[in-house]
Amino acid sequence: MTTTLFKDFQFEAAHHLPHVPEGHKCGRLHGHSFLVRIEITGEVDAYTGWVMDFAELKAAFKPILDRLDHYYLNDIPGLENPTSEVLAQWIWQQLKPELPLLSAVLVKETCTAGCTYRG
Ligand SMILES: [Zn+2]
Repeated sequence: MTTTLFKDFQFEAAHHLPHVPEGHKCGRLHGHSFLVRIEITGEVDAYTGWVMDFAELKAAFKPILDRLDHYYLNDIPGLENPTSEVLAQWIWQQLKPELPLLSAVLVKETCTAGCTYRG
């Protein structure tokens, strides 16, 4: 039985988008309360009844979360143009080696806007 698990994480960070047209509001320095949803997909173990311990998922993402929370995203190598799309892909690249079952990274920068990257 293949099942997808997800866990949501939240962090605060500042950024600006350097490639938007002049006068665009996203070109100005501002911050977001970002939401990141990490999804993994795998087989449910017949004995444990789970795909993975949520604590394991949390531990895998923690070092990445610590690099993002309360930082200026543009300063982080690979995030010079930190759109949600670029951020989702960046998180995928950092996390996939630690979490081979990773199947999606969702990034929301407001309550109503976000993106999903699936590798
Ligand atoms: Zn923004």
